Amino acid sequence: MSQRTLVLLKPDAVKRGLVGTILSRYETKGLSVVAMELRSIDEQQADAHYAEHVEQPWYPPLRAFSTSGPLVALVLEGDEAITVVRGLNGATDGRAAAPGTIRGDLSLSNRENLVHASDSPESAAREITLWFPGL
Ligand code: ADP
Ligand code: MG
Repeated sequence: MSQRTLVLLKPDAVKRGLVGTILSRYETKGLSVVAMELRSIDEQQADAHYAEHVEQPWYPPLRAFSTSGPLVALVLEGDEAITVVRGLNGATDGRAAAPGTIRGDLSLSNRENLVHASDSPESAAREITLWFPGL
């Protein structure tokens, strides 16, 4: 079943010059880019995006990281895109993520882990509306 999912290439991906490398993982898998934009976000947008996490002790540094520089927001589309993209990204903690995944190959951090992707059809719908209200 074709799905859409919201992906962020976080500020560490932009700072490290990994946008092309990461985007190519999604494209070579067969997913299509249906929207994409380089954006800098404020604390309000970070809080809205990470609404489920704002009470976590690790949220303030995550918010600081998320607003520290430009990121790339995109919507990917393809068969089972939500699950497929989560699989390509790998486990949250880059130190534990499996080799072969984006985080497993390219991140050594549980915060600066390069990518975000929606984790369910409900969060994909919410996040796509939040980031690309015109879609
Ligand atoms: P995921 O991005 O894999 O869906 P979560 O939704 O659990 O992971 O967390 C959102 C983001 O918050 C993570 O991608 C990571 O950047 C950060 N994060 C999660 N857990 C921690 C933690 N224990 N310490 C620091 N940052 C964290
Ligand atoms: Mg999450």
